[in-house]
Amino acid sequence: MSLANGREYLAIPGPSVMPDRVLRAMHRAAPNIYEGDIVDEVAGISRDLKAVAKTRGELAIYIANGHGAWEAALANTHSRGETCLVLATGRFALGWSQHAAGLGLELDVMDFGKQSDVDLDALARHLAADADHRIKSVLVVQVDTATSVKNDIAGIRRVLDETGHPALLMVDCIASLACDRYEMDAWGVDVTVAGSQKGLMTPPGLSFVFFNDKAAAARETANCVTTYWDWRPRSHPEHFYQYFGGTAPTHHLFALREALAMIAEEGLEAIHTRHEVLARAVWAAFDAWGAEGPLRMNIADPAKRSTAVTALSIGAPYGNEIRKWVEANAGVTLGLGIGMVDRANPDSHGFFRIAHMGHVNAHMVLGALGAIEAGLTAIGVPHGSGALEAAARVCAGSSSG
Ligand SMILES: *Cc1c(COP(=O)(O)O)cnc(C)c1O
Repeated sequence: MSLANGREYLAIPGPSVMPDRVLRAMHRAAPNIYEGDIVDEVAGISRDLKAVAKTRGELAIYIANGHGAWEAALANTHSRGETCLVLATGRFALGWSQHAAGLGLELDVMDFGKQSDVDLDALARHLAADADHRIKSVLVVQVDTATSVKNDIAGIRRVLDETGHPALLMVDCIASLACDRYEMDAWGVDVTVAGSQKGLMTPPGLSFVFFNDKAAAARETANCVTTYWDWRPRSHPEHFYQYFGGTAPTHHLFALREALAMIAEEGLEAIHTRHEVLARAVWAAFDAWGAEGPLRMNIADPAKRSTAVTALSIGAPYGNEIRKWVEANAGVTLGLGIGMVDRANPDSHGFFRIAHMGHVNAHMVLGALGAIEAGLTAIGVPHGSGALEAAARVCAGSSSG
């Protein structure tokens, strides 16, 4: 007998849950790639993606995961030997910076640790000290999926403006786009990187680089870029195949078309509010459990937490044990802790993450929390009481009648 039989729930921070509508949209025969639906729909997909990123700028689409878009964004804007300022708040900005190093760029890393967002005062001092504007770009992740911290992107733009620094502001929104609020143009972001498999509810394998005129001007002198990654033909194709540098990713596009339709039907405002309420339900449960015993949310200040993913510490070996228990006994897959301590360190078994991103609703989140409560009890982790009631109260308090 297994209580896990039934529909499984993948609650790792990407890939996220794929809606049945998205799955069905892919279930069709191979289309003609020279005319018909695929050719007709790309302009609309592009328009809808820009609406989600809140930009009137340009978009290049890559048949690649987020790592590919990371590299594309850098290659199109930099020449070898230039310096990137890396604002690290967990694994992901550092991961991006490795691609910069691989392209022959110099790294200037400000590391804010694993439990804080970017310190804007420290950033202001650092930029002011760069009087000859050696720093060409600032790389930052809106939501670091490892630590679940959310950075203040508008605040970072303000600091760049106040110090009169001309660096490009480049933001990784892979975990946050269509989950947390984001406004590329209003916040003065020059380059935004996103991927298909998180808030966009589409299988991994498509990624997106949005860019404005300032970034497009940088492309004109960038010498890191190679033919395949060049964003110019992709954003202004003369021939349809140039959107993708080759054959269109047919079924990914059908999936994305449907996911974008779902996003438009629900509306971005409602999507953000849903993520905020469900995140508060998750946090209420973890606050209650953490009142006794070892369970702690990684980011103490709720205002600095992602509404798409929550990172936790629980102490080794409980992090691994809770994940294994809920997957084997309740059909819920939680995320590994990543980048909190070295993987060889036995303490690395003391972390886990829960995603609440994309196509999730109250019954999924409350169900996952119930499974965690059962797991804590089964493996004998001390924990406070009242967590599920607290989560339910959050949902009840936001209900529309
Ligand atoms: C998932 C993620 C990535 C990596 O995306 P891949 O598709 O796995 O390459 C990069 N940055 C952030 C913030 C992410 O959440």
